Amino acid sequence: MFKRVPGTRDILPEEIAYWQKLEAVARKVFSLYNYKEIRTPVIEESALFSRSLGEFAEIVKKQMFLIKNKEDSYVLRPEGTASIVRAYLEGNLDKSGRFSKFYYIGPMFRLERPQKGRQRQFHHIGAEAIGSSSPWIDAEIIMVADAILKADQITGYSLNINTLGCPKDKLALVDMLREELKGKLGGLCQECKERFKHNIIRILDCKKQECRKVVKGLSIQDKHLCGDCRQHFNQVKRSLDAEGLSYEVNRQLVRGLDYYTRTVFEFKHDSLGAQDALGAGGRYDNLVKDLGGPQVGSVGFAFGVERLLLVSDLKKHGPQREVVFIIVLGDRAKDAGARLLSGLRAAGIAADTDYQEKSLKGAMRLADDLGSDLVLILGDNELEKNVVIFKDMRRGKQEQINLEEVVDKVKEKIET
Ligand SMILES: [Zn+2]
Ligand SMILES: [Zn+2]
Repeated sequence: MFKRVPGTRDILPEEIAYWQKLEAVARKVFSLYNYKEIRTPVIEESALFSRSLGEFAEIVKKQMFLIKNKEDSYVLRPEGTASIVRAYLEGNLDKSGRFSKFYYIGPMFRLERPQKGRQRQFHHIGAEAIGSSSPWIDAEIIMVADAILKADQITGYSLNINTLGCPKDKLALVDMLREELKGKLGGLCQECKERFKHNIIRILDCKKQECRKVVKGLSIQDKHLCGDCRQHFNQVKRSLDAEGLSYEVNRQLVRGLDYYTRTVFEFKHDSLGAQDALGAGGRYDNLVKDLGGPQVGSVGFAFGVERLLLVSDLKKHGPQREVVFIIVLGDRAKDAGARLLSGLRAAGIAADTDYQEKSLKGAMRLADDLGSDLVLILGDNELEKNVVIFKDMRRGKQEQINLEEVVDKVKEKIET
C-alpha cells in the first residue's frame, strides 16, 4: 500500500471540521479589518525566494522543495510574503498607488527533517499590508493577529516585539555583533559558527543552550537604532498600549529572513515546547523595491494553522450542523425515500441515507455514528399509509408524520 510522503498529513473529515471553523473565524476577523483574500500558486520561480529571503537564509540554503527540469527551476513556496509581493507587482497593484491589505490561507512547503511541530507541508494563515510605513499599520497588523487568536479561543499566549531598525541600523547591528562575538565563537554551536560569517543576526535567536548563554551576555540593546526607527517603534508601542494589548520588548527577537526591517514580533505559546511560536511577522520596507517595484513600506504576519489547532479551544465545542438521516426499508419505498432526500436538501436541510442497505438496527447505528439526531424511517407499511416515522433522538420522541409535511416538520425541529 502507498503511504503519505514523510512530513505530510492527511486531514480526514473528522478533523477538517476544526480547520474549517478556524479558517472561518480568521476570514471573519480579516473582513472586519478590511483585508482581502489573495490566492497565489504554490509553485514559484526559485529565484523569487533566494532574492527576497536572502541566499543565506536557512530556508533557502536547506529547505527549498526544488522542481527542476532542463530550463526552469521552480520551488514549492516555503512562505507567503514573497509570492504576494510578486503578485502585487505582477497585477500592477502598485501602479494605482493604492495601499493594499491582503490575507491568505494555504499550504507551504519546506524540505526538512520531519519532527514534532515541523512538517514538510504545513499551512499558514497570514496577512500583508503593502504600501505604508506608518507605525499605526504595524499596530493594526499585530491587532489583527491578536484578534484571530482571541476569536479562536486561544489563551495563554504571549507577544514579543522588537525593532531591527532600517537597513543601515541592521548593518550597525551586524558590526556590533561581530565585534562582541568574535572572542566568544568557541561557545557557539556549529551552525552559529557558520552564521557568524553570513547571517550573524540569526545567532540572537538560536535555540541551543550554549548559544542562549552567550547571547544573554551580550550588551545588545538599542544602540544601533537611528532616531527615526526609534520614534517609529515608540509609536508602535504606544498604539499597542492604547489598545490594551500586553507585550514584552525582547531585544533578542529577530526573524530568520533578510527582508525584515524595523518592527518584528512573535506570538508564543508555552504548551508548544521547543517550537513555541504560534506565528510571527514584521515589517519589510525594502522587499517591494528589491523585487522591482517602488519604494513602499509593508508589514505582515503568518500563523501556523497546525499550531493554532493544537492550542485552540474550538476543538472542545461540538460538531457541526445536523444531518437528517433517512432509513428506507424495502424496495418499494426506495423511490419515495430518494424524493424525500432531495426535498430536504432542496429546502437547505443536510440529509443522507444508508447506501449499504443495512438492517434497521445497522442503519440506526450508522445514523448514530454520523451524530445524526433526527432520523426518518420509511418502509413499505409507512408508504401505504403515506407517512414516515420520525425519530427525534435528542428528545427521545417518535411520531408518525404525513409524507407531504416532512420537510416543514423537520425544519421546525431543527430551528427549535
Ligand atoms: Zn533606522
Ligand atoms: Zn547556535
